[in-house]
Amino acid sequence: MNTLDFLKPRSRQIDFENFDDRILSYVLEKEQSFLTCISCGGCTATCSAGNLTHFNIRRIGLSLRRGNVNELSNEIEKCMFCGKCTLVCPRDINIRNVMLLLKKRVAQLKTEKLF
Ligand code: SF4
Ligand code: SF4
Repeated sequence: MNTLDFLKPRSRQIDFENFDDRILSYVLEKEQSFLTCISCGGCTATCSAGNLTHFNIRRIGLSLRRGNVNELSNEIEKCMFCGKCTLVCPRDINIRNVMLLLKKRVAQLKTEKLF
């Protein structure tokens, strides 16, 4: 093994060939405000679930944009839908609704055994 391998960061490129937009397109269809997110982290800092677990809304947003369906499916179970994230968002994004839509879509895909 080459010692330089330890320094090689994981690729952060989005693989558009295999991009899975089944959750993102559903969320954006119903909550377009999510497009204006500036990834400031305000919602993440105030998140009730984030204070108790490793749940991270910013990472959820990234996974949504990258189409990481499996990760979203595992993570969304931690959201308590308290709505604190929505209250602090400087862009007035209803991020609680984004989480709700995400959970609904994951449930749909699971019911239809699509992943
Ligand atoms: S607080 Fe609003 S703008 Fe900031 S990361 Fe969260 S959703 Fe995006
Ligand atoms: S609604 Fe979910 S994502 Fe938003 S602050 Fe509450 S636990 Fe966190």
